[in-house]
Amino acid sequence: MKDAKLWRNIDKAVECEVCERRCRLTIGNRGVCRNYANIDAKLVHVGYGLISAIESRPIEIKPFFHYWPNSTSLTFSGYSCNFYCPWCQNHHLSFTNPPEDAKRIPPHELVEKALKNRDEGLCSSFNEPATLFDYLLDLFSLGRKFNLYGSIVTNGYFTSRSIQELIDSGVDGFSIDIKGCPEARKAIASIDHSKIFSNARRIIDLGGHVEMVYLVVTGFNDFEECVDWILSKHLDILGADVPLHVNRYYPANVWRAPPTSLTTLLLIKEKAEKLGLNYVYVGNVGMEGLEDTKCPRCSKVLISRKNYRVTYFRLDEDKCPRCGQKILIRGKYIPEKMYSFF
Ligand code: SF4
Repeated sequence: MKDAKLWRNIDKAVECEVCERRCRLTIGNRGVCRNYANIDAKLVHVGYGLISAIESRPIEIKPFFHYWPNSTSLTFSGYSCNFYCPWCQNHHLSFTNPPEDAKRIPPHELVEKALKNRDEGLCSSFNEPATLFDYLLDLFSLGRKFNLYGSIVTNGYFTSRSIQELIDSGVDGFSIDIKGCPEARKAIASIDHSKIFSNARRIIDLGGHVEMVYLVVTGFNDFEECVDWILSKHLDILGADVPLHVNRYYPANVWRAPPTSLTTLLLIKEKAEKLGLNYVYVGNVGMEGLEDTKCPRCSKVLISRKNYRVTYFRLDEDKCPRCGQKILIRGKYIPEKMYSFF
C-alpha cells in the first residue's frame, strides 16, 4: 500500500483525483474501482503492486500501429475497474477486487523482467490502468531510466492532473477506448463520453502519442447517430492524423448480442475515410489488408501486419518513399528478433 498522490479534503471526506469518477470517500470506504481507500482521513492506494498478470506481448495487439512498430512490451495488469462494461473480455480481472493478502510486486521486478526479456517497453493493459495509478508513476519513471518506453491501454477517464503526472513519469503511448456516445444509455450510463476526447486532446497537446479504439458493440454503440458522433468528435477534436481502430466485438461477460457484422465495420471505415481520417483500421476480423498502413496521399502500402506482427515495413525515416508524405510514427521500427517469452 502507498499513500496516494492525487486527492483533496472535502467535507470530512477525501476526494480521489485519479479519474473523473472523483469518488468522495469517508473513513473506511473505497472508491468505485476498489483500489483506493480512505484510511485515517488520507487517500491510500490499496491496490499498489497487486499485479494480476504479466506477459511479454507485441505492441500491435494493444492495438498500437504507429508506435514502436514490431516491438514488444512487458504487459501487466491489476484488478478491478472504474467502468465495469458488461461486454468486458477481461471481466475475470476487471470485476475482481484486488486481493490484498497477495504478494505485491515492486516496480523494479517488472523493469528487470522487461530487460531480461529484451522488451522495448512497458504497457499497462488488460484492466484499467487508473486502478494502478500510483504504482504506474513509480514503475514508468524507473523504466525510463533503462530506456523502456511507457504505454497504457485505457478508457481515458483520467483527470487533467493525473494525465500530467503520467506524462511526467514517462508515459508517451496512450491507446484509448472510446466506449460510446451521449445517446448510448443502455450500459455504463454515468460516463461522460466527451471527456474521453478532451483528455485525448490534452495528451496530444502535452506531447503524447494517441491511438483511438472504437469497439463496435452490437446493440450498444453501433447505431448511426452514435457512429456519426464518434467520428465527428474524432475529426474535430483530435484531427485526421490520429489513428482510429474500428474493432469487432465478440460476446463476453453478460453481453450476449451477436458479434459485430463485417458490413457494419466496413461501413464505419468508409464513412471515417470519407470524412478525411488518414489512418483507419478494422481489427479483430483477421482479413488481409484491413490492418495495413497506406500513404494518405498516394495510397502506397507502407506497413503490413499479420497476427499482430509487422510483415512489411517501408518508410524513409518517417516519410512515404514514393511521394514524400510525412507519416505518423512514434519510436523506432524493431526488426524481427528472437523472443524468450516467459
Ligand atoms: S481511481 Fe478509483 S477511487 Fe479514484 S476516482 Fe477513479 S474510481 Fe474513484
